[in-house]
Amino acid sequence: MSPNPSGNAAADLLTLGRRIRHFRTRRGLTLDDLGERVGLAASQLSLIENGKREPKLSVLQELTAALGVELNDLLSTEAPNPRAALEIELDRLQRSALYSELTLPQVKPSKGIPDDALRALVGLHRELQRHANEAIATPEEARRANTELREWMRERDNHLPEIEELAESRVLRAGHSTGALTHRTVSVMAEQLGFDLIYVNDLPHSARSVTDLENGRIYLPPASIPGGHGLRSMALQAMAHRLLGHQRPTSYAEFLRQRLEINYFAAAALMPQTAAVSFLQQAKRDRNLAVEDFRDAFGVTHEAAALRLTNLATARLDMRLHFLRVSEDGAISKAYENDALPLPVDVTGAVEGQIVCRKWSARNAFARTNRTTELYQYTDTPAGTFWCATQTGTTEAGEFSISVGVPWGEAKWFRGRETTTRAVSTCPDPTCCRRPPSVLADKWREQAWPSARLHTHILSPLPSGTFPGVDDSEVYDFLERHAAG
Ligand SMILES: [Zn+2]
Repeated sequence: MSPNPSGNAAADLLTLGRRIRHFRTRRGLTLDDLGERVGLAASQLSLIENGKREPKLSVLQELTAALGVELNDLLSTEAPNPRAALEIELDRLQRSALYSELTLPQVKPSKGIPDDALRALVGLHRELQRHANEAIATPEEARRANTELREWMRERDNHLPEIEELAESRVLRAGHSTGALTHRTVSVMAEQLGFDLIYVNDLPHSARSVTDLENGRIYLPPASIPGGHGLRSMALQAMAHRLLGHQRPTSYAEFLRQRLEINYFAAAALMPQTAAVSFLQQAKRDRNLAVEDFRDAFGVTHEAAALRLTNLATARLDMRLHFLRVSEDGAISKAYENDALPLPVDVTGAVEGQIVCRKWSARNAFARTNRTTELYQYTDTPAGTFWCATQTGTTEAGEFSISVGVPWGEAKWFRGRETTTRAVSTCPDPTCCRRPPSVLADKWREQAWPSARLHTHILSPLPSGTFPGVDDSEVYDFLERHAAG
C-alpha cells in the first residue's frame, strides 16, 4: 500500500493541473481563451490540467502572468477547492496496489461526475483501505503467517546456517568458546557493536527492549533474579536486530520472521554450533543423549536446550525429532516436528492451541507425583512408535511440559531408552481419548453441568496502533527521559 514515487509525482501533477483550472475558471476563461494567451492549443492545456503532462517552467511563467497569480499559487501542494480535493484523492486511490489488484476500471475524475457520485466513490475507496489495514492485524492473519513460517523452517530442518555462523563469530570475537556464556561476555559483545547495556525499571510496556541508536545504548528490564538467564537472551536478541539489519516490520509475517531470527541468534550465541555439536556428538557416541545434560553444560533453560537441539539434530547429528511445549490443559504452545509425529492441526494448519493426545508423555507427565526426573515413554501412534522424554515446569501462567522425542529407531542414542512406560494413542480417532468411556457417559450425561471457562484472548484483538503494537509515544518519552540523564 506504500505509494510508489511515480504515483506521488503523478498526484502532484494533478494537483498543479487542478490549481491551474481553478484560477482559469475563477477568471471566467475558457481553455481556448487561456491557451491563446500563453501560446498553447486548448488540447495541450487540457492535458496539463488533467495532470497528464508536465508544463515547462516557461509555460508556468506565462500562466502566472495570464492568470494574475504568483508561481507559488500554482505550485502549492494543496487542492484548490473541495471538489478538486476529491478528484485528486480518487486519482491517488485508484493508483494504489490494492485497487490495481481488483482489475476494475479507472474512473476519470472528470467534470461529468456529480459531486455525490465522487464523494461515494472516494468514501468506498477509503473504507477498502481501512479494511485492508485492519485485516493485517487479525488473529487469523497472525496464525496463517505463523504456520507458513513453521513450514518454512521445517523444510530447512529448523537450521539457519547464516545465523549460526554470525552468532558463533560474534561470541568468538568476544573471547568465548565453550561452556555457559557469561553476562560479562554478553556486555563485551554489545560493546564491540558500539552499545552499552543499561538495565532500567521503566521500560515502555509495549517493548521488550529499546535500542537508542543515537547514543549507543540498549535498555533492558532489570534482573528479577540476579544472574537470571533470561537477560542474556534478551540482550542478545536486541543485538541481533542490529546485526541482521532488521527494519520496522510491515506485516505479521515479517514481524514473526524477525522474532524467529533474533531468538535463533540468541540461542546460537548461548549454545554456539561448534561447541554444542561436539558436546551432542560425544553424548550420542556414548548413547547418553539427554536434554538436561545439554541444558546444564551451557547454563540455559530446559526449553532453550530442547529447542536448540531441534536446530542441530537433523542438520548436524543426522537425526529427525520433535519438540512440544504443552500447557497443563493439554494445549500446544509451541511445537516442531520433522519425524512425522502426527501433531493435531486446525483447518488452517496451525498447531498452537490444539490439544494433544491424553496418552502422550507431554500430558502423562502432569499425572506423575515425582517430577524431579524426566518422564521417558514409548508411544504407539498411527504413524509409528515414538520415544519421548518429558520434563515439567511451572510459571505464573501455570504448569507446562517440554518434550523432545524421536522415532523408535533413534531412541538408542538417548538416556531413558530402556523405559518400560508404554502407551497406545489412536488420535485423531475420537474414541482414543476425546470421547468419554460409554459407562461414564451413561452415568453422568444428564447429571453433569460444567460451566465453561472463557479464554480471554478470544475477545481481545491483537495489539493495534503502530504495527506491531509498539506504542511510539511511550517509547519516545522513555528515550527522552534517559537520553537526558
Ligand atoms: Zn488420544
